[in-house]
Amino acid sequence: MPRKNDFHMSPEEFRRHGRAVVDWLADYYAKIESFPVLARVAPGEIRASLAPAAPVEGEAFEDILEDMNKRILPGITHWQSPNFFAYFPANASGPSILGELLCAGLGVQGMLWSTSPACTELEALVLDWLVDLLGLPEKFRSDGAGGGVIQDSASSASLCAILAARERATDFASNERGCDRSLVVYASTETHSSIEKGVKIAGLGRRNLRLIPVDDRFALRPDLLGRQIRKDRRNGLVPCLVCATVGTTSCNAMDPLPAIGRICRDEGVWLHVDGAMSGTAALCPEYRYILDGLELADSFCFNPHKWMFTNFDCDCFYVADRAALIRTLSVLPEYLRNQATESGAVTDYRDWHIPLGRRFRSLKLWFVIRYYGAEGLRHHIRHHVSLAQDFAKWVAQSDRFELAAAAPLNLVCFRHTAGDAFNRRLLERLNASGHLYLTHTTLNGQYVLRFCVGQTHTGTRHVRQAWHHIQKTAGNLEKGK
Ligand SMILES: *Cc1c(COP(=O)(O)O)cnc(C)c1O
Repeated sequence: MPRKNDFHMSPEEFRRHGRAVVDWLADYYAKIESFPVLARVAPGEIRASLAPAAPVEGEAFEDILEDMNKRILPGITHWQSPNFFAYFPANASGPSILGELLCAGLGVQGMLWSTSPACTELEALVLDWLVDLLGLPEKFRSDGAGGGVIQDSASSASLCAILAARERATDFASNERGCDRSLVVYASTETHSSIEKGVKIAGLGRRNLRLIPVDDRFALRPDLLGRQIRKDRRNGLVPCLVCATVGTTSCNAMDPLPAIGRICRDEGVWLHVDGAMSGTAALCPEYRYILDGLELADSFCFNPHKWMFTNFDCDCFYVADRAALIRTLSVLPEYLRNQATESGAVTDYRDWHIPLGRRFRSLKLWFVIRYYGAEGLRHHIRHHVSLAQDFAKWVAQSDRFELAAAAPLNLVCFRHTAGDAFNRRLLERLNASGHLYLTHTTLNGQYVLRFCVGQTHTGTRHVRQAWHHIQKTAGNLEKGK
């Protein structure tokens, strides 16, 4: 079709192409199980299949969309496949994708309340909803001294916690003078790497991160934490923040929040709790025990973009004392001055995270929570947990496989009894089959396979098929096939 010469997409064309894109996605989800879950391309292969230089003349929308099929899909690892059991999920759902589309369409910057009041007010509301839905401590609600904010990732949320803790530990002087005291951060040997990254970015120095040993369930040992904090104080250092994890990335270990929280309270140290994936389980009252002790925390984050049907990016970050966070991150140039801010009656979320600009991310969360309702969300979380528990039971009953760690929720760590080399080959063979995708970790120095149930559409059939494939592939390998 000939194009008008102002180069833009007209509203009528937008309507037509928009429908085609929604159809493309609906078709994609309908046939997603026919693709190999893990992309089968060599490095550079996708780029080599694409035009090396940008087009001089605009192209037909149909041609661009067609290249999604021909050139982009082969390079996609299908995170939304119900046969995706790798890493942690990054799941999505119809309501979240459509909420995301509206966010893109409105295209607002929500850095100040006044730059789009609805962007700020809906975000504060939805984050308060989640305090109730997850049974979080009331102090994280925005009508007290605390409040929640959406960050792009748990990594950013944890960095903000480290920065606020750094300032609180130095009477908010580090921002002015630089960090002139030796501040120390504590986490366990199983803590996510984002804490180390945060410590480095915050200028505290990698050598001031203490990785505390874990017990036989891979949970941080509070006795050793307390001892290390006292030792550091004796040496003139300043303990600043402890990061406890609810559901470690490697094997879903749960750090004991009550014991860690009491130490932090007695020592005046900031407690940050990272519940990136597993926090979502607290939607169900029967799993809320994982957050026992959270009332002792200064901050908490979890990722609806992992397990709550809300596409990346969406991390919910809560602080008990928002003043500490805002004082840490606030700067006010003349060009952002406005009456609403000066009145003190509004929240300006730019002071709650690192970037200035911010997308209307609460829209997709609002769509998801309203569309599923608390009951719908709980139903699916319970189903995922029960599927993982079935899988764990099959592993435990098998005479060739064994569990490598406790499986409290939706992640099962397991291994074949034939040793590391065998498990490594088994994983390679399974992932090359295209039928499913798993990843690995090491626990107690042993190579371990991880099976994480959390993609939106993963059901009984997929988990049964996966176990069947795993057993069959292992059987072939045992026979040297
Ligand atoms: C996945 C994960 C993270 C990192 O999440 P991002 O949002 O990608 O930064 C942090 N902590 C834990 C425990 C995780 O599992």
